[in-house]
Amino acid sequence: MINTPFNLSQKKPLLLVVDDQPGNIQILYGIFKDECEVCMATNGADAIEFCRNRQPDLVLLDVVMPEIGGYEVCERLKADPLTEHIPLIFVTAQNEPAEEAYGFEKGGVDFITKPFHANVVKARVRTHLTLKYQSDLLRTLSLTDGLTGIPNRRQFDQVIQNEWQHCMRAKQSIAVIMIDVDFFKFYNDHYGHQAGDQCLVAVAAALKSKVTRSNDLLARYGGEEFAVILPSTPLSGAEQKARQLEQVVRDLKLPHEKSTSASVVTISLGVAVTVPVKGQGYASLIAQADGQLYVAKQSGRGKMRSIQVCSGDSSTEQFKP
Ligand SMILES: [Mg+2]
Repeated sequence: MINTPFNLSQKKPLLLVVDDQPGNIQILYGIFKDECEVCMATNGADAIEFCRNRQPDLVLLDVVMPEIGGYEVCERLKADPLTEHIPLIFVTAQNEPAEEAYGFEKGGVDFITKPFHANVVKARVRTHLTLKYQSDLLRTLSLTDGLTGIPNRRQFDQVIQNEWQHCMRAKQSIAVIMIDVDFFKFYNDHYGHQAGDQCLVAVAAALKSKVTRSNDLLARYGGEEFAVILPSTPLSGAEQKARQLEQVVRDLKLPHEKSTSASVVTISLGVAVTVPVKGQGYASLIAQADGQLYVAKQSGRGKMRSIQVCSGDSSTEQFKP
């Protein structure tokens, strides 16, 4: 087998074959069953539902189907952020250039003409699976912190933008926790930068073990700074989470001889919570959380400070021991 990038990935690519004629599905299944996990749908509605649930790596899409035709399926998948990245190849008996141009305009990546020639179909599918694998890899790399393996600042910015809008529509509160490793410069100076890196890796893993809800996000925000987004979370819940995070890092018991507040590595945390309203951006929430982080540092480190930011300009600070 040719060593194309898509089969360097650990698992078989997931291929969805959509056709109202079971005979056509059978033929494509026979061609791809060895190198792909092949799933099938016999109408447009099922195809859309499948893509929303499982996000296949590639869809082979019949153009002429009753009710929802191939072009409309394509249009709907491209309009949905959840499925817009999935490449679609149209499978059609028509090979008019105008027809092909129309399919590309709708967002398809290629055309396969019935009756199929197995090797041509295989080659085209492999090419598009390779491109899909490369673009997935690139997206993952561009959103991941190289040292700790957790989401990076870019991903944090994307997620908070989406969650901010979501919580605004749902009239729910959103919490941000800003985290800073205490006396990290002293740690680096004393133990060296490699030990400093290992410390950050261990802290990230510990924090991650406590950020487990599917819509919550932990990111590396800067050098020794981390940040957590907790959508649909009130102040009490965010404070509880911050205390867990403080404890889980303390429990690592990483010796820190140069810390003046503890014998082990600790973190300080600033929490800010608000219900987003129109005309207000998330930058102010991050600034408020940063402000609380500063207060936590000033009051001795290894501590959490929090604030409920009211819609408008008044806010209530919460002081906790
Ligand atoms: Mg058909």
